[in-house]
Amino acid sequence: MSLEFQNVSFAYADAQRGIDAVTLSVAQGELLAVMGRSGSGKSTILRLTAGLLDGYRGRISIRGTDVAGVPVWQREVGMVFQQYAIFPHLSVLDNVAYGLRMRGISTAARRSLAKEMLERVGLGEHADRRPTSLSGGQQQRVALARALVFEPRVLLLDEPLAALDAGIRQQLRDQIRELQRACNATTLLVTHDQDEALSIADRVAVVDDGRILQVDTPQRLYDQPASATVARFVGHSCVMPGRVLAPGLVDVSFAVLYANTGAFRIGEKVDVLMRPEHVQPDPPEATLNRISGRLGEVRYFGATSRYDFIPQGVSQPLLCEGRRLAEHGIAVAPEHLRVLPAPRGISL
Ligand code: ADP
Ligand code: MG
Repeated sequence: MSLEFQNVSFAYADAQRGIDAVTLSVAQGELLAVMGRSGSGKSTILRLTAGLLDGYRGRISIRGTDVAGVPVWQREVGMVFQQYAIFPHLSVLDNVAYGLRMRGISTAARRSLAKEMLERVGLGEHADRRPTSLSGGQQQRVALARALVFEPRVLLLDEPLAALDAGIRQQLRDQIRELQRACNATTLLVTHDQDEALSIADRVAVVDDGRILQVDTPQRLYDQPASATVARFVGHSCVMPGRVLAPGLVDVSFAVLYANTGAFRIGEKVDVLMRPEHVQPDPPEATLNRISGRLGEVRYFGATSRYDFIPQGVSQPLLCEGRRLAEHGIAVAPEHLRVLPAPRGISL
């Protein structure tokens, strides 16, 4: 493994939580997205990798070597942050060449390596300009070129797109992925944006409250989330609290649903997860897992609509999605329901 966290915990000086027992590994050339809401501990994972924080428990290794006590400049990590950490008094080319200067590479070689990297990020013509004369997206490409030019062991990206407009963000997102692949750079990308994480990462680590909830491919996170919390982070979802009635049968208060209850015991509290696109609108009366009710709020998105369906006798709407709306009933096939552990400490 190129980067590995084994049971790493860190608390800031004021004892506010940093991260708790984080275990994860990133393979050579892999892009792992660390996704979670603000304050969940994402940047802390990055800072620990870079060597910007001291006093953690557990083991962090880069290319198999424990990096405890190894200073930032010897870790060979490239970093890009949300705010453009660029030297305004240096030209674009010198900004990129800067990281090479500390590595004893000759001036001529530095300039040619930097020029080459600038070409790769599409800024070859801007080499002599001041970075402040460039757009936000271009400045982030300079930062990316500077981070990649010395072939870092790990590339660390902390919300690199968060400050940019939506259009530029998508463009740069694809560009980052392309470049990361071409350079075969082992990469940790921190983001709170699920579209960003799911669309470019090989795997995603979902972080909440300093802990890793699940690390998986985007597709497995969506199809097989470990908990309702993960499901809510990944795509749209509809979570129905319930109780196992019998093997293969769950009571969700307004209906009894057929679903694979796996290893859950009779009487156990569970969450039943439904994805909005799996809803069948107005199915025949005898359909398995049919829920009666009425249509609520509708949001129109062109190819599809997202709408609320309000089951009879409850006020909590179920989020549904499809071309056709449900007026009187919905159904979800048993194979499309996921039975997940109910959060501990919360009773129905
Ligand atoms: P994220 O990047 O996911 O938004 P961080 O890793 O920056 O979150 O922070 C995780 C937690 O640690 C948060 O509760 C945050 O308030 C706290 N924290 C971050 N930096 C410091 C600091 N320098 N001193 C004290 N607490 C901090
Ligand atoms: Mg952060």
